[in-house]
Amino acid sequence: MKVSSDTKLYAIIGDPIEHSLSPVMQNVAFQHLDLDSVYLAFRVRPQDLEAAIAGMRSLGVLGFNITIPHKVSVMKYLDKVDYQAIEVGAVNTVVNKNGVFVGYNTDGAGALAALREENVELKGRRTVLLGAGGAARALAFSIAPLTESLVILNRTESKAKDLASAIKRFNAAAEGKKLSEATLRSKLADADVLINSTPVGMYPRVGECLVNGSLMHSRMVVFDVVYNPPETRLLREAKKAGAKAVGGLNMLVHQGVLSFKIWTGIEPPVDIMFRAAEEALEGKSD
Ligand code: NAP
Repeated sequence: MKVSSDTKLYAIIGDPIEHSLSPVMQNVAFQHLDLDSVYLAFRVRPQDLEAAIAGMRSLGVLGFNITIPHKVSVMKYLDKVDYQAIEVGAVNTVVNKNGVFVGYNTDGAGALAALREENVELKGRRTVLLGAGGAARALAFSIAPLTESLVILNRTESKAKDLASAIKRFNAAAEGKKLSEATLRSKLADADVLINSTPVGMYPRVGECLVNGSLMHSRMVVFDVVYNPPETRLLREAKKAGAKAVGGLNMLVHQGVLSFKIWTGIEPPVDIMFRAAEEALEGKSD
């Protein structure tokens, strides 16, 4: 890769940031397409966020991703926010359009693209979503118009209920409940799709799992947004129950693909980005 004074800069900001797979994935796409651009990761502490965004403006950074813990707080420093990101309440992608910073959220559309690639049909299906945080909100808004019913189960019940009311206009059958053994048992018995959008099971706490395989069935699809490890304990439980198991790495790649398209208007090489992310993950999780 040649870097010159013409090279365009893209970035990701978060705290922590050293485990991010985005630099590997985005740089491989720039290289494959022979674009004179680089993508770097910056650790930005919460108290430095405003200064970091001002710095992006003065340096002319053309686009950046935002990850934990800045997805909500970054919104107040942007010039415009896309209506879907406003609904979700979080931004993961910013594009610099001639000095105007516009925020988007590609997590929900990334999840839908990943499910499509796995031939998972949501239309006419009953879906149970675990969690009501940032990822769950992005997923809920994307899935609600498609799925027949959507049950949101969350540790903090009020957040599940709030999210269910926010998506009610897209899905009249949406309901929010407390995540418990009893609600899991009753709601999973006739569910077609189970989605975990909590960090439970994520490296290094890989032994944790919110749902035992005995509550799953073989006609079910189980999608875990956690991508490290690629096969979580939840997905192993799903396989044991004979269910179809889908990991979160594809969603990560597709949300990055959508960011790339917002920045450049060019379709990036999805397979190459996936392989780069997968290889980088193998190197990080041991
Ligand atoms: P978040 O905003 O902090 O939300 C976390 C959610 O998980 C909350 O609903 C929280 O419940 C619940 N939760 C946390 N610990 C729990 C536990 N021990 N038991 C039960 N529920 C628990 O986080 P987020 O941004 O949504 O991220 C969630 C996960 O998604 C992370 O692992 C992240 O890496 C992953 N993610 C993946 C992708 C991808 O592309 N694959 C994209 C975005 C995020 P309370 O409301 O009760 O606190």
